[in-house]
Amino acid sequence: MNVTDPKARKLHIVTHGCQMNVYDSARMADVLAPLGYAPVDTPEAADMVIMNTCHIRERAAEKVFSALGRLRDLKDATGGEMMIAVTGCVAQAEGEIILKRAPYVDLVVGPQAYHRLPELIAQVHRAKKSVIDTDFPVAPKFDFLPDAAAPQGVIANLTIQEGCDKFCSFCVVPYTRGAEASRPAASVLAEARRMVAQGAREIVLLGQNVNAYHGEAPDGGSWDLARLLYALAEIPGVSRLRYTTSHPSDMTEALILAHRDNPRLMPFLHLPVQSGSDKILSAMNRKHKADDFRRIVARLREVRPDMAFTSDFIIGHPGETDADFAATMALVRETGFALAYSFNYSPRPGTPAAGLAQIPEEVKNARLYELQAELRRQQDAFNAATVGLSTPVLFTGLGRHAGQLAGRSLYAQPVVVDCPTALTGEIHQVKITHANPNSLLGILEKKELIAA
Ligand code: SAM
Ligand code: SF4
Repeated sequence: MNVTDPKARKLHIVTHGCQMNVYDSARMADVLAPLGYAPVDTPEAADMVIMNTCHIRERAAEKVFSALGRLRDLKDATGGEMMIAVTGCVAQAEGEIILKRAPYVDLVVGPQAYHRLPELIAQVHRAKKSVIDTDFPVAPKFDFLPDAAAPQGVIANLTIQEGCDKFCSFCVVPYTRGAEASRPAASVLAEARRMVAQGAREIVLLGQNVNAYHGEAPDGGSWDLARLLYALAEIPGVSRLRYTTSHPSDMTEALILAHRDNPRLMPFLHLPVQSGSDKILSAMNRKHKADDFRRIVARLREVRPDMAFTSDFIIGHPGETDADFAATMALVRETGFALAYSFNYSPRPGTPAAGLAQIPEEVKNARLYELQAELRRQQDAFNAATVGLSTPVLFTGLGRHAGQLAGRSLYAQPVVVDCPTALTGEIHQVKITHANPNSLLGILEKKELIAA
């Protein structure tokens, strides 16, 4: 690696997994920018490649090792000069194992140590050997990371909470991301203001358990998520607010009412339920029952009738019988989702459910197939129901083809509109003319601006 000419340093970050990793990757680029690292689009052009990884399911973790194999060839082609770092949840969970399986990796850094990257890179150069940092510091990393620098565009993600104390039987997050920690409200508001100054109009608050947010209030005390959302809505230029991912147990009445009373908060909620069977929810240590989920959905629909829901499901958790799966299908049919993510249970080393008797793969596959067919049908029905309606669309940029603009509906559906004018960052009324499986087509209905 070229250490004599800092300006020549080039950084490529590969991001796997959730939106929080996307946010973390941007923060790592910010941490490394003062060292002269400029982002490049390909690993071939880079002096340093960071693989920011996901450990949530086995397949996600295995992807890291095959990608590392490919990076090794690139490193060899540079005579070993290219630096390779593994960050994220695989780094945290696998630590030393990464260096055993891929000894050409220079750095293994857990999600709580990104602010120490400059020091760790210097250590690699000094010691001429690989370095691991997977410590959980006493103070959360929010206290150390620099302010977000690079603009994200019209829709900006903002991490406000990290970690989890819930210990669901299947999940690695409490082990890889550590204890639940909320960022002080003043620092969230300051980052949101900067995002707006850089062109953001929609802010998506992120956290593994975002609705458990309890950050220090600007005047002492603490704010919950509902209070934070009201303060964010007052920032001039903030047109839309969303938050993800929420846990049913933390869906307070105040937060439910915010969907009615906060005009910037979208009528849309991602609320993972995982299963419709109380027996399985209890085995999962979820701390909520299927009826709690039903009550939250009903109450939100009562206060905000146009509310739409998305969710996550795990199929084939140890102990799941045909009757338990039928309870999940019943809950899905009854709720009606705009979209949902569903996964076969994947045993994760060190988590309680991994040690239990497992459901055969073919049983899991058959159930997942049935669930996904129903979810697909619901998603298609949800999208089809928008055809003919007039709906506000926030334009995010140019579409793929000339003369097209891309935007998002109230429900975060991608919308493509034939329109020669540059309306990026503005909200206009669009008549939906066609629904594709994952996007909508429309025509600009009213030229006048709803919000900018
Ligand atoms: N905190 C959120 C919650 O409580 O629902 C979810 C966070 S998790 C990062 C995202 C999703 O991954 C979960 O909702 C779950 O459906 C899925 N997931 C987590 N662990 C899994 C496992 N071991 N096997 C399959 N899916 C898993
Ligand atoms: Fe994982 Fe979410 Fe459960 Fe926490 S609440 S352990 S992040 S699934």
